[in-house]
Amino acid sequence: MLRDEGPLVPLAGCTDVYVNLNFGTLPQKRFLNLWRLDELRRIQAREGVLRIGALATYTRMIRSALVRNWLPILAAASREVGGAQIQNRGTLGGNIANASPAGDTLPVLAVAEAIVVLQSAGERRRVPFNSFYTGYRKSVARQDELIVAVEVPSVPGRQWFRKVGTRAAQAISKVVMAAVRAPRPRIAVGSVAPTVIRLRQTEAALAAGGSVEEARETLSREIQPIDDIRSTAEYRRRVCENLLEEFWRQTA
Ligand SMILES: Cc1cc2nc3c(=O)[nH]c(=O)nc-3n(C[C@H](O)[C@H](O)[C@H](O)COP(=O)(O)OP(=O)(O)OC[C@H]3O[C@@H](n4cnc5c(N)ncnc54)[C@H](O)[C@@H]3O)c2cc1C
Repeated sequence: MLRDEGPLVPLAGCTDVYVNLNFGTLPQKRFLNLWRLDELRRIQAREGVLRIGALATYTRMIRSALVRNWLPILAAASREVGGAQIQNRGTLGGNIANASPAGDTLPVLAVAEAIVVLQSAGERRRVPFNSFYTGYRKSVARQDELIVAVEVPSVPGRQWFRKVGTRAAQAISKVVMAAVRAPRPRIAVGSVAPTVIRLRQTEAALAAGGSVEEARETLSREIQPIDDIRSTAEYRRRVCENLLEEFWRQTA
């Protein structure tokens, strides 16, 4: 249908789509409902890869022993999304496709070095999550493709996640960070740039044995936060530096 009758807007849990419809910011009026495709809900581990179907909801990921063992920070991020109602409807694929720089699962997928599996009528392709976004709300996914799954290789090291919002539930992130403590640390942040970003220079500074103070300075040069309705650039910068320090201290 995407190939022959498109363009169509895929519908998963609709938690983002309904907001856009209500605000009148969604010009398209033709949809493709994915909700009943149970095949896209599966979570399974095979040959050293955790595969999470695009329609897996936050509730499903929180309840999944596989997710909790393999990628506990994905379960942690899922627990912080919206409230119970949003967790029951919102999906991992929807969070990725919506492409908000504040999406809570995105820094997790960035440090997990996940692969996004895209499927069209003619082909299936695998795109590294860290090259999936090309700019603000832009990605390499085409209109005739669905996100069908995310593949996560095993993640070596100690995982860490923290979201900072206005309150514990129903709040979009002001800053969200996921990290892995390993000889080569991995750190990703949301809400401080047009897309979620890996802090490659900060990671390199820490891997080389630099102090947290030096890493804070490097981080400050790497991010480009802005003032918007949720926060100020200055607040985001300070919080981001503090989160880095907290990550490093708590995983020592
Ligand atoms: C009250 C409220 C609170 C929220 N809180 C948070 C929060 O704390 N953190 C957070 O990150 N987000 C939050 N959100 C945003 C939203 O819930 C998430 O982004 C959610 O994961 C979207 O998933 P969905 O299945 O509902 O997507 P949908 O709304 O169905 O779709 C979103 C977009 O993705 C596309 N799409 C969906 N699935 C696919 C697919 N498989 N392939 C290709 N394209 C697809 C759709 O066409 C659409 O453009 C909140 C939303 C609301 C309304």
